Amino acid sequence: MADVTSECNIKVLCRFRPLNQSEILRGDQFIPKFQGDDSVNVGGRSYVFDRVFPTNTTQEQVYNACAKQIVKDVLGGYNGTIFAYGQTASGKTHTMEGKLHDPNQMGIIPRIAEDIFNHIFGMDENLEFHIKVWIHLHLLIQMLFIYLVVTKTNLAVHEDKNKIPYVKGCTERFVSSPDEVMDVIDEGKNNRHVAVTNMNEHSSRSHSIFLINIKQEHTETEQKLCGKLYLVDLAGSEKVSKTGAAGAVLDEAKNINKSLSALGNVISALAEGTKTHVPYRDSKMTRILQDSLGGNCRTTMFICCSPSSYNDAETKSTLMFGQRAK
Ligand code: ADP
Ligand code: MG
Repeated sequence: MADVTSECNIKVLCRFRPLNQSEILRGDQFIPKFQGDDSVNVGGRSYVFDRVFPTNTTQEQVYNACAKQIVKDVLGGYNGTIFAYGQTASGKTHTMEGKLHDPNQMGIIPRIAEDIFNHIFGMDENLEFHIKVWIHLHLLIQMLFIYLVVTKTNLAVHEDKNKIPYVKGCTERFVSSPDEVMDVIDEGKNNRHVAVTNMNEHSSRSHSIFLINIKQEHTETEQKLCGKLYLVDLAGSEKVSKTGAAGAVLDEAKNINKSLSALGNVISALAEGTKTHVPYRDSKMTRILQDSLGGNCRTTMFICCSPSSYNDAETKSTLMFGQRAK
């Protein structure tokens, strides 16, 4: 597959998962009609993206088509963000994380970890050549889980002296191997689980934000090169009514929907490319991501969809969200 990350700075990629067992048993229809490699027709309407991945696309194909170049760019000092958007069970976590320790089923995050370390080990082998280049490589990988509900576990966004936003209270580790990256993911997942249980047993929607921060320093010139990459598994985008929520859960759902629409507004303002106001400050998440979205940054949004007729309203609304960024 050709690389789709190099020309424009906001890419929108659409991925459909296969029908699952219970959908097949229920007799659901398979609704998407794939047209070429960048278009899908749902309910008589065509939606065009930078790329559409049909249900049989492998994790490796997805990675090669969208993330490989971003890793190179981040090692070259650019910032970037990769999102997964879609309703619950549409394949967001499968795309971003997949099965962490299964080489075929690994998603984008573990593949990125391997790629970065391969790059570093590759540099060691060529030390003679690279000794004049960036040889002191510093890797800081952070795992952030952001809760948009007002609770004690809600993480606060601060700004450092350079006005760069950061989150206080997240898991943060220096890592020296892909395995250590997986450990950070596992630890973050556990923390999230504990926090969710403490908040409300029915409340499980939250965004998870994973940050890879790469700092390189030239040993002779002390020149520095920094790049960071946010990997964001967004909370499910489904409408509140379908979940039958009430009380605190309803408030949480409203907060999540608000933060998703704030993200949509930022992305579509950036995609329009006009120099008008980009409403970064409308949500915590867009504040955090501000210096890694738009401009020179590499931004990729995965639009994750269910193929089932049962979900067709949500699927159409997900596809529309993706179209706004085009
Ligand atoms: P989400 O994170 O959007 O809630 P998940 O990624 O957890 O959804 O996916 C829901 C289920 O569907 C999981 O069991 C996952 O393994 C499966 N799944 C998702 N996408 C695919 C895919 N492209 N191919 C095969 N199985 C998938
Ligand atoms: Mg998930």
